[in-house]
Formats: sequence, C-alpha cells, structure tokens
Amino acid sequence: MPGKWSRPLGLLAALGLSALVGCAALQGMAEDVAYQAGGERAAGVVRGAGTVMSGLLPISYDEEKVIGEALALQVLARYNGVYDKPQLTRYINLVGRAVALTADRPTIAYHFAVLNHDSINAFAAPAGYVFITKGLLKQIRNEAELAAVLGHEITHISEKHVLAVLQRSKQLAGISEAGLSAAGHNPVVFKSLIDAVAKKLLDEGLDQGKELEADRLGVAFAARVGYDPQAYVGFLQRLRTLKGDDQAFFKTHPNFSSRIAETQQGIRALSPPRQGALLADRLTQRLRGQL
Ligand SMILES: [Zn+2]
Repeated sequence: MPGKWSRPLGLLAALGLSALVGCAALQGMAEDVAYQAGGERAAGVVRGAGTVMSGLLPISYDEEKVIGEALALQVLARYNGVYDKPQLTRYINLVGRAVALTADRPTIAYHFAVLNHDSINAFAAPAGYVFITKGLLKQIRNEAELAAVLGHEITHISEKHVLAVLQRSKQLAGISEAGLSAAGHNPVVFKSLIDAVAKKLLDEGLDQGKELEADRLGVAFAARVGYDPQAYVGFLQRLRTLKGDDQAFFKTHPNFSSRIAETQQGIRALSPPRQGALLADRLTQRLRGQL
C-alpha cells in the first residue's frame, strides 16, 4: 500500500480507526497513531525506528510501542476492523488481562480486541496488542479455552517473538548496515520495515518453535490464573477435527498434531500439576447475542 504512512493518508487511517473502535483502550491506541500521523511524535517515531534498525536490541518499550501500533493498524486493515461490541470487548479484556498478569512481562498495558472477520485466527503485535477474530470466538466453548488462546498471543508479546522477526526483516526490507543512519531518518524505510514484518507475521508465520512455545507457555499462564489447562487440548483437537491436520489451514502455525503434543507435554511439566475451572456457562452467557 504505497503512501499509506504519508502524512495525510496516515491521519485519515487514524481517524477511520477511531470511528471503528469501540473500546477505550483501542481508542487510546488510535489517538496515539493520530498524534504520530500529524504531530511532533512523528519525529520520535522515525528516531525510534532508527535506533531499532541500528540493531540496538533490546529496544525500549516506547520503540516497541511504535512498531506494535503500526503492525496493529495493518492487522485491522486486513481483517475488516474491530467488531464493535463494547460488552464483548470488556469481557475479552477481563480474561486476557488476568492471563497477562501472570505472564513474563506483566507490567505492560495489554489491549484485546475482536476483529470483524469470520476466519479462524488471532494475532499479536508488539507492546501488548492482541486480536482475535469473531470466527475464532465462535469456536470457543469455555472461558478456559479463551484464556489459553489469549495466552498464546500474550506469549508472542511477552517473549518478544515478533521483535525477533524485526531484526531479521532488516535484510528483507533491503536495509544494509551501511544505510542505517540515513534509514533512521526516513519514514519510507520505516514503512518498508513494518511491511516486511507484517508479511512475516500475517502471511508466512513465525518460526514453528516459537509457535509451539506460545502454546506451551500460553496454557501455563492461563493455568496460573486457575483455568483448566486441558481445555486448550480440547480446543486444538476440535479444530483438527473441523479442519483436518492441514498446515495450509493454519499456514502461519504448525499442524494441530504437533501443537497438541507440545501442549500435553507442557501440561505434564506443570508443577504442581494443575486442574482448574472451565467456566463454560460464564462464556456462554457473555457471548450470547454478541456474535
Ligand atoms: Zn501464534
């Protein structure tokens, strides 16, 4: 999308986003982006990108946020925006934030939103932005499954999986080490870097090892809150029955059999062994009439 981040179009995108967004958390995100598009912070964005591209990882949270917001906007653009049901959004945030508090980076602000899309998918962007499609929510049978699905995405953020892709994407974006200092002051180069990361995140997927880690840790985080870890195994098995054990379906993730095996291994390693709540009725009540 050439020119998407040019100033007038960037501002339009931000205004469009704020019209779509129903919850206060995402409103804040839209405002951030609007401010970036039109305000002084644009300079900081480019400076931040320059630092990132100079390879000075670990990057600061502010820099991570700039990248996360840019990727979140790409997710929203591709997946038909936010599904604007305030009660539903509040519920997803309640469950997601409870899980995030038990994860490895509990202090960052996590925002959870439902995408107005019938495909079965979920995404995480750096700095705490988590998206789950309406289509995926329709497949979920209890709150423990929801907690583990959100836990998987939280892990991508807490373990900085996407940020690791960013480093490698410098090459994909054609940014040579020699050109870094000039690139840091060039929004076009920042955009090409974000596009490269989005392609990896949305089209190609993270390393399979990172996906399996997200399954294992996501369940462990949800179990710490008190959810039944076996629920996620049931969820994956149901999707495998529904879709077949086909990597083409979840082309960005390993096949279901590998994920189920990894999850079961993770559950066996939980210490102490955990049982927990499923909360099927609560999920049913909260989702009734919402999807
Ligand atoms: Zn994943």
